[in-house]
Amino acid sequence: MTSALDLLKRRIAASGPVTVAEFMRVALAERGVGYYATRDPLGAAGDFITAPEISQMFGELIGLWCVDAWERAGAPDPFLLVELGPGRGTLMADALRAAKVRPAFLTAVRLHLVEISRPLRAAQEQRLGGFHPLWHDDLTTLPEGPALIVGNEFLDALPIHQFQMTEQGWRERGIDLSNEALIWTLLPPGPQLGLLQAAHKRAKPSEIAEVCPAALSLAGAIGARMVEEGIAALFIDYGSAASAIGGSLQAVKAHQFCDPLAEVGTADLTAHVDFAAIAGAAREAGARIHGAVAQAAFLETLGIRTRAALLSAKAGEGDRAAIAQGMARLIDPRQMGSLFKVLAIAHPDLQELAGFP
Ligand code: SAH
Repeated sequence: MTSALDLLKRRIAASGPVTVAEFMRVALAERGVGYYATRDPLGAAGDFITAPEISQMFGELIGLWCVDAWERAGAPDPFLLVELGPGRGTLMADALRAAKVRPAFLTAVRLHLVEISRPLRAAQEQRLGGFHPLWHDDLTTLPEGPALIVGNEFLDALPIHQFQMTEQGWRERGIDLSNEALIWTLLPPGPQLGLLQAAHKRAKPSEIAEVCPAALSLAGAIGARMVEEGIAALFIDYGSAASAIGGSLQAVKAHQFCDPLAEVGTADLTAHVDFAAIAGAAREAGARIHGAVAQAAFLETLGIRTRAALLSAKAGEGDRAAIAQGMARLIDPRQMGSLFKVLAIAHPDLQELAGFP
């Protein structure tokens, strides 16, 4: 059977070096061979762990955030609840359980899941089958109507282009083949240099800049959708609030960093999310932007400490330690609290949303 590595090697041998974006797309998402397309990578026995898998409080608070945003938007019935890259369905299961505080929300909700992974779709079916979700490969097939859209650690998996400053100016980084092995290379200058943003103009030789056109067009499309049809999208991911110079592409396997070119299709590949660029693209489409704020500030404003105290009051000794530990991982600035940011793209009339100052 062909692997993502074989496929890339054949493609490079046939038509020359590929961009980092094409490398990432094939390694992660190519049908039948990509990392996400073929496995469930989550959890202690897998490659990495995410906030909803760390603590039920994460999904619960996002569920309450959704109920609040839906009410602020006039409680439309029906409305779409969309999750992008739902993983094992844990966040959504916790969110919908918390949303029971508003039975009308659960009557009005139509659940849509955007997911390319067959194994993860199966896990989502198991967790969320009772809500009769519909699955999509991307956002283009979503029906019309007001929508709440949630994506946790989704944007970081979208393909980025990398550029490197040289004495001769910017060059796009690519991947070539040498003696049957993948190697880094610089591509000849071309129109793709137009992807670089104003924030990247001042760089020193050897410095790297990253641009994620897939995330920018997604943000633009969601912004336009919010203006036309209403409610809001919530993105949680790691990255910086302001655009910055620097390479952040990383490969992770079994909870350890590894060489991205050595583990093609068998390791997770991610890059930091440029929240300023995402906000800019959605704002240009007419949407209102909230954030980005640090995950700790968002979760504390939504009441994670109160929720933890309530859960602890009902828990046994061992569970109490796990609840405290889970909360610390989510909000401690040395863990996920400040590296992770939260950004909302909303209808222009939604002047306030919970969790954002
Ligand atoms: N949100 C989950 C999973 C994060 S991992 C959690 O927090 O636990 C990234 C998720 O996005 C996985 O479900 C993966 O299969 C999905 N995914 C990655 N690239 C995708 C793409 N291009 N389109 C749709 N889903 C994608």
